[in-house]
Amino acid sequence: MTITRRRFAKGMGIALGLGTLAAPAVVRAQNKGRLVVIGGGAGGATVAKYVARDSKGDIDVTLVQETPLYSTCFYSNLYLGGLRSFDSITHGYSTLAGKYGVKPVFERAVEVDTTAKRVRLASGDTLDYDALVVAPGIEIIYDSIPGYSKAAADYMPHSWQAGPQTLLLKKQLDAMEDGGLFVMAAPPNPFRCPPGPYERVSMIAHTFKQSKPKSKILVLDAKAKHSKQALFQEAWENHYNGMVEWIPGDFGGEVESVDAANMTLTAGGETHKASVANVIPAQRAGAIAQIAGLTDDSGWCPIVPATMASKMAEGVYVVGDACNPGDMPKSAFSANSQAKVAAMTIRHELTGSRVFPAKFRNTCWSTVAPGDSVKVGANYEPTDEKISKLDGFISEVGETAEIREQTKLEADGWYAGITADMFS
Ligand SMILES: Cc1cc2nc3c(=O)[nH]c(=O)nc-3n(C[C@H](O)[C@H](O)[C@H](O)COP(=O)(O)OP(=O)(O)OC[C@H]3O[C@@H](n4cnc5c(N)ncnc54)[C@H](O)[C@@H]3O)c2cc1C
Repeated sequence: MTITRRRFAKGMGIALGLGTLAAPAVVRAQNKGRLVVIGGGAGGATVAKYVARDSKGDIDVTLVQETPLYSTCFYSNLYLGGLRSFDSITHGYSTLAGKYGVKPVFERAVEVDTTAKRVRLASGDTLDYDALVVAPGIEIIYDSIPGYSKAAADYMPHSWQAGPQTLLLKKQLDAMEDGGLFVMAAPPNPFRCPPGPYERVSMIAHTFKQSKPKSKILVLDAKAKHSKQALFQEAWENHYNGMVEWIPGDFGGEVESVDAANMTLTAGGETHKASVANVIPAQRAGAIAQIAGLTDDSGWCPIVPATMASKMAEGVYVVGDACNPGDMPKSAFSANSQAKVAAMTIRHELTGSRVFPAKFRNTCWSTVAPGDSVKVGANYEPTDEKISKLDGFISEVGETAEIREQTKLEADGWYAGITADMFS
C-alpha cells in the first residue's frame, strides 16, 4: 500500500491526540493494506478477526502469536477451583485462519522498527506493515520482590500468565497435605485483573473445603484495599469461615522478600513458611512494547483514547493490558472492547471505511463459590486525556442466592461469548 504525505499527516493527527477522525485521506491504492498484530490474546485476536472479517479481504492481516494454543487467564481460577478443565480454557486459531483469512505466524516478535514499519521475528524473518497492533499483555517484574526470579517461579508460581504456570500451581495445590498453609502475595496496582487474586483465593478455599478442610489461606497484600473487597469478605465468611486471612499493605501485608528454597515469605517483619506459595509481583507492558519504544515512565503504553493509537509511534495501536487504559481496568472484557475501537480505526485508515464514536465497556465477574458469582462493571468514553468512566454498577452485599446464581450464569455466558468473539 502506498502511503501519501497527506495520509501520513492524518495518521500523525490521530497520534497527536486531535481526538476526532476525519474523512479518509487516501483513495485505496492498488495493493492491499497490511496489518500486523503482535499477540493473539483477548486484545490481539479480536482486532485480527474484526479487521479481517469486516474488510472482506481488503486488508492483509497477519497475527504473530508465540504459541499455537492460547489458554485464557480468565476462568483459569475456575480451573484451580476444579470447576473447569484446562482444555475448556484453551483455544486455537484455525477458525481465524480458515474462515476469515487471518495469517497466523506462531513465533515471537523480537523487534519493531517503527520508522521502517517492520517487525522482526525470532527466526529472523521480517514482516512489513502499514498498521501495527501491539497486544502482548503483561510482563512480570520478577525483581520487584527481593528473592523472586523466573527460576523461583518454578517453586513459587505466579500463575498470572495462563499456561504451564497455571498447571504448576494446580499440581502443587493438589499435592498439598491437609492442614497446609497456602500463601498468596497479591500485587500492587496497576495489574491485570484487579479482582483476580481474590477470586483465586475463593476458588482455592473451595477446593480446601472439599478435600483439605484443616488447611489455611494467608493473603499478603501490597495494597491497603482491593476490588470488590466487601463482596469477597462476605463470601469468605459465608463459605469458608475462618479459613482465609487477608493482611492489607498498611498492616504489614506487603511482601518484603521471598526465599524459594525454604518456601518462606517475609512481610511486616514476620516470616511465613508456606506449603504452597503463589507470588504475584508487579507488572508492566509486555516486553515487545518496551522494545518497540511504546511505553512511558509508567511502564505502560500511552494511547489516544478515541482510537487506541499509540502516542509514541505513528501507525501503531496498543490494546489490552499493555496500554494505559485510563479508568478502565486491565481485563479481557476491556481488551476486547478496546480492540473493536482499534479495528474500526485501522479499517478507516487503510480502506476509508466509516467510523463511529468510540465507546468502551467492561464487566468483571468473579466466582466466589459454585453457583455464587459477583460482578462489577462500567461504561466509558474517550476524553482528551483518558478513557473516562461514565457510570458503573457492582453486586450488593447480602444479595439472594437466586441473584448470585443468575450472575454465575451471566458469567458463563460471557466466557462462551468472548471466546467465540475472539476465536470463531
Ligand atoms: C487469574 C486471572 C483471572 C482473570 N479473570 C478475568 C475475568 O474474569 N474477566 C476478564 O475480563 N479478565 C480477566 N483476567 C484478565 C485477562 O486475562 C487479561 O486482562 C487479558 O488476557 C488481556 O488481554 P491481552 O490481549 O492484553 O493479553 P493476553 O490475553 O495475555 O494476550 C497476549 C498474547 O500475546 C502473546 N505475546 C506476548 N508477547 C509476544 C511476542 N513478543 N510475540 C508474539 N506473541 C506475544 C502472549 O503469548 C499472549 O498469548 C484475568 C487474569 C488473571 C491472571
